[in-house]
Amino acid sequence: MTEEIQQTDSTKYVPPTRGERRGGGGAVERERLDYDNTLANSFDDLDLKERLLRGIYSLGFEKPSIIQQKAILPVLHGHDVIAQAQSGTGKTATFSIGLLNRIDHTKNETQGLVLAHTRELALQIFNVMSGLSQFLDVTYNLSVGGTLIKDNIDELLKNPQVVIGTPGRVLDMINKKALNTRTLKVLVIDEADEMLSKIFSNQIYDIFRFLPNDIQVGLFSATMTEEFFKLTKCFMRDPVKILVKNEELTLEGIRQYYINLDKSEYKFDTLCDIYAACTISQTIIYCNSRRTVDQLTRQLVDGNFSVESIHGDMGQDERNKIMKEFRDGSCRVLISTDLLSRGIDVQQVSLVINFDLPNNIESYIHRIGRSGRFGRKGTAINFLTNYDLKKMEEIEKFYSTSVEELPANFSEMI
Ligand code: ADP
Ligand code: MG
Repeated sequence: MTEEIQQTDSTKYVPPTRGERRGGGGAVERERLDYDNTLANSFDDLDLKERLLRGIYSLGFEKPSIIQQKAILPVLHGHDVIAQAQSGTGKTATFSIGLLNRIDHTKNETQGLVLAHTRELALQIFNVMSGLSQFLDVTYNLSVGGTLIKDNIDELLKNPQVVIGTPGRVLDMINKKALNTRTLKVLVIDEADEMLSKIFSNQIYDIFRFLPNDIQVGLFSATMTEEFFKLTKCFMRDPVKILVKNEELTLEGIRQYYINLDKSEYKFDTLCDIYAACTISQTIIYCNSRRTVDQLTRQLVDGNFSVESIHGDMGQDERNKIMKEFRDGSCRVLISTDLLSRGIDVQQVSLVINFDLPNNIESYIHRIGRSGRFGRKGTAINFLTNYDLKKMEEIEKFYSTSVEELPANFSEMI
C-alpha cells in the first residue's frame, strides 16, 4: 500500500485552508436541501443527462441504493460532500454519477480528478466510470504508479476530461506540468480517511496546493474517525454530510466467526482443514505482513493447494495478472495484505479469512466487507491466538457486533 509514497522536502505539513467559494465550479445558487432526508427513489428522479442514465441502466442498476439516493444530489448541486456508507453499498457509482453529470463533455479540459489509495482501486474506479459513461464521450486518463511516465505524460497533455489516479503519480504529473489542474471542477477522494492518514496526507495536501480555490470536493469512505473530521474542517467548505454510526457499519448479510487457536503455529493446519470451503465460492485470506503472505503462499503451494497471492512488493504486471485471474474466477483463493482490504469489489467473494487479525479497527470492517457486496451473503472467519482475544473483544464492542465460535458444520453453511 505504501509503494506510492514519495518523500517530499517539507517536514511539517498542515492541511490546506481554502478561502471562500468564488463560484464557477462551486455550488449552484439555491436553497440548500436537507440531503439526508431528500431521497431520490429512482435514477430517473435525478435529472441526469439522458446518456448517463442509459449507462447506469445498462450496468443493470435498477434502483439507487440508500447512499446513492442521498448523496448523488448534493454532488450534482456542486456542494462539498462527506459521504459515509457501509462497504459494498455503491459509493463508487455515487461519486461517479455525480461527477460525470458535472463534466462538460464539449470542453477538451481536465475537469474531474478522482484519487484512490491503490493502483488496483484506481483501475477499478476507471472501469466503473467507463461503464457508466459508455454513451457519453468522456475522455479518461489513469495516472498510477507502475506504468510508464512518458506515456502518462503524453496522455495527460491531451487534456482528458477525467483523471483517476493514486496520489504519488498524480502529484508527479502535476509537478511535471503534464496534469493541468487549473480547469478542475471536481475532486473526489475515495477511501478518504485512509488518504488523510499519516501515510498519504502529505501528498494529498501537496496536491491541494495546485487546485483551484473553488473546486468542489467529495470525500467517500465506509469508515471515518474523529481525527479525520478534524482534518477535513480545514479544507472542506460547509460540506453536506451523510454519515453512519459505528454500530451500524457491520452488514447483516456477513456472518462473523472466530476460531480460537492458542498459538499461531496452529494456523496453517487449520487453514488446510477449511481450504475446501474456500474454493466453493471465492475467498480472500488476509495476513498482516508481506512476509507472512509469501510464507503462507509457499506452504500452501508446497501442500498442493491452489492459491495466489498479492502485495505491494510485487511488480505491477504480476499484480495486474493476479487481479485479472481473481476477477474472472480462475483464481479462487487469494492471499493478500491490506493492499486489498479497501475498495476492491469482486462480487463472487463470499468468504474472508483473517489469518492474522488486523491491528487496525477500521481495517477489520473493510476486510470483511470484501464479501457480502451489495446485499449478498458473506462469511468472515477470524483466526485468533491468545494474544488476539482482547483485540477481538474491542472490535466487537466498537461495532456493537457479535463474533461467534465457528461451528463444526460450517462448510455446509457457506
Ligand atoms: P462501496 O464503494 O460502497 O464499497 P461499490 O461502489 O464498490 O461499493 O459497489 C459495490 C457493488 O454494488 C458493485 O459491484 C456495484 O456494481 C454494485 N452496485 C452499485 N450500485 C448499484 C445499484 N444501484 N444497483 C445494483 N448494483 C449496484
Ligand atoms: Mg468503494
